[in-house]
Amino acid sequence: MVTHSHPARTRTRTLFCPECGRETTEFHGNRCRDCFIKSFSLIDCPPVIKIHVCPVCGAYFAAGKWIQVSDMKEVLFSELSRSITLHPDASDAKLDFSEEEIDQSRYMVHITVGAVVDGLDISATADTEIRIIKETCDACSRIAGGYYAGILQLRADHRHIREQEVERCIELTDHLLKNLFDKGDRFAFVSKIEELKEGVDLYVGSITSCKQACNAIIRELGGTSTISSSLAGKKDGENLYRVTCAVRLPAFVRGDVIAVQDRVVEVTRQQDKQIHAIDLSDGSNASFGTDAPAVKLGSRNDAVSSVLVAIEEDTVQVLDPETYKTVLLKKPAFLHAKAGSDISMIVTAKGLFLLPE
Ligand SMILES: [Zn+2]
Ligand SMILES: [Zn+2]
Repeated sequence: MVTHSHPARTRTRTLFCPECGRETTEFHGNRCRDCFIKSFSLIDCPPVIKIHVCPVCGAYFAAGKWIQVSDMKEVLFSELSRSITLHPDASDAKLDFSEEEIDQSRYMVHITVGAVVDGLDISATADTEIRIIKETCDACSRIAGGYYAGILQLRADHRHIREQEVERCIELTDHLLKNLFDKGDRFAFVSKIEELKEGVDLYVGSITSCKQACNAIIRELGGTSTISSSLAGKKDGENLYRVTCAVRLPAFVRGDVIAVQDRVVEVTRQQDKQIHAIDLSDGSNASFGTDAPAVKLGSRNDAVSSVLVAIEEDTVQVLDPETYKTVLLKKPAFLHAKAGSDISMIVTAKGLFLLPE
């Protein structure tokens, strides 16, 4: 036997919308769907939004501080998001906009917002004008005013700092400050470079960036630093400090040939207060404290080419590049050349020396 069953009859209550009088089964806040959507105000947007933008660096001022941005569209979007108020019942909001340039400092922005309210997809549009107000930012006005929070003093120990060393220090500093600036340190800038007879001073906008530049220089070029801080005044009741980072590049650099403790050595590196070198007479490793009295005899740049005449067990015969006479020297451990080949030598006040390859 087959039983036919009818589905249960469901009856939804049909009522009249108090606003438009239409019959409906779907109510939202005591109104029909259409009346609810019509009366609902999804967004509230000011007719004009002002944005302060720095004409020098392009930073813009938002929520009490200057922010660096690369794209104006990004600024418009974040300012709109901040200025538009959505109805508290709205969820899953999607903001979209298109802008029209009225002139260089004004944009007309057409905004479209879609959201879900009481289970209904609702959308709304609004227009607002964005006015760009040019204002020099805090960092740019400080740079222009020569502001600084740290001085990076570039010097060398017992000698004058070389031009190419200064250039490298400035390069390293620029690179580091740019990184810090991109990471949000808006005062990572150099506002002044001062050349003095004892060296070069860089005036840096923030204490952190000054210290980090100092460390980066020593990491690459060696030497030592001393950091001191002093009270520079008060601002809003708080003490303002400045730092001085004094960099002292090593007295001797890689490739320098020096006389120290009765030996003639070629400097390989200096770390902290130790000079590491190779003894040119026998090829052994040598190291000295930076306080050991030392005299520079020359540098690898002064090397001359000569000929290795003969090699014996512990000695070699070389041609003196100045007199062309054969000279007998101790055979240094670094020598691997064969008799008859060209070799590199240095003529110093302490005699002739072979240089490591
Ligand atoms: Zn209605
Ligand atoms: Zn600026």
